[in-house]
Amino acid sequence: MKRIAIDMDEVIADFNSKHLRLFNRDYNENITIEDLRETRLRLLRPHLTSEIINYLNDPTFFRDLDVMEDSQEVIQELSKHYEIFITTAAMEHPSSFNAKYEWLKEHFGFLNEMNFVFCGNKSIIHADYLIDDNARHFEGFGGQGILFTAPHNLVETRYVRVNNWKEVKNYFIM
Ligand SMILES: [Mg+2]
Repeated sequence: MKRIAIDMDEVIADFNSKHLRLFNRDYNENITIEDLRETRLRLLRPHLTSEIINYLNDPTFFRDLDVMEDSQEVIQELSKHYEIFITTAAMEHPSSFNAKYEWLKEHFGFLNEMNFVFCGNKSIIHADYLIDDNARHFEGFGGQGILFTAPHNLVETRYVRVNNWKEVKNYFIM
C-alpha cells in the first residue's frame, strides 16, 4: 500500500475558526477568515504577536477544534486503499500533545494510533504523499506534496493544490 501523510491544523482540524473567535472576543475585534487571505493573524496585528501565539500554548486549545468538512469520510475511504499517517508539527506547541492525541482518538478513532506522528521537521516523514497547508513542509519531503488550501497559502503555485476533502477524494480517484 502507498502511504499518505496528513497534517492536522487547517487540514483535518479547523484551527482558524477557534483562534479567530477567541481573539475577537478578547480584543473586541471582528476579524474574519476572509481577512486572513494571503496573511496570518499575527501579521495583521503584529503588536499582539505573543498574545496571538499564546492561545496555542493553552493545553486545551486543540482539544475541541471542529473537524474539517468531509475529512472523516474521505480518510476512512482512503484508508481502505492507502496506509494513512497523521503527521503534525506538534513540537511547535508541546503543550498541545494530549489535546491533539485525544482529538484524534475522538474524531479519527478508526485509524491506528501507531500511525499518529507528532514531529517537528516533516522531512523525516517517509510517505508517498503529504497533504499539508504549509508548503515549507514539502521542501525536504521525498514524496508528492499536496497543498491543502488555507487563507495563508492562496498565492502558492509550486504544488498540486486541493481546495477541500472532496477534491482530495477526486485526486486519489476512488
Ligand atoms: Mg497545518
